[in-house]
Amino acid sequence: MEKKLFVISGCSGVGKGTVINEFMKKNSKDFILSVSCTTRSPRPGETDGINYFFLTKEEFEQNIKSDKFLEYAQFAENYYGTKKKYVQQKFEEGFNIILEIETQGAIQVKEKMPEAVLIFIAPPGVNTETGDISGALQELENRLRGRHTEDEQTIQKRLTQAKIELERAKRYDFIVVNDDVDNAVKEIEKIVKSHY
Ligand code: 5GP
Repeated sequence: MEKKLFVISGCSGVGKGTVINEFMKKNSKDFILSVSCTTRSPRPGETDGINYFFLTKEEFEQNIKSDKFLEYAQFAENYYGTKKKYVQQKFEEGFNIILEIETQGAIQVKEKMPEAVLIFIAPPGVNTETGDISGALQELENRLRGRHTEDEQTIQKRLTQAKIELERAKRYDFIVVNDDVDNAVKEIEKIVKSHY
């Protein structure tokens, strides 16, 4: 049967890592979590080829020049990207593929592969019917202000970034609200199973 590509993104701090790990624990027979390339340094405990393929900036830019990426983006001053060849190989091995990537890359994937299914994990407060994000922004602002740990400039920066991410979420096929990890995983399973 035709194998499928699913892209999962989410606002920072929304807990998408936990949701994806839970999903993978239950579905590792049919799904593979793609290993991306990045120029950022490995964090303690990360292994090359397992968490990421760690490349130098020069290596990454050489790969861009020779059109090796299905998608790539700059995020927090580093490059991140998914190799075309990696995706091709995993399809040939018979897996459905999950890309856990940020929103600019996700939109590139959709442009190149319209059949890819884009899922955005949103914080509570997003109206999944209308796509209205104002409730989520208000909740984030209340949370940031309630903590009394960030100064006004930092709060404004965080809110601006969240707004950009939530605006891009409107181009996704599905928005899953993470109010509870188990529910979010179940909802992703439902979406995924109706597409392959
Ligand atoms: P981190 O440095 O915390 O591992 O990842 C930072 C961000 O980069 C996350 O939002 C993650 O989803 C995103 N990311 C990881 N791999 C890729 C990739 O291959 N392409 C793109 N566009 N984003 C990625």
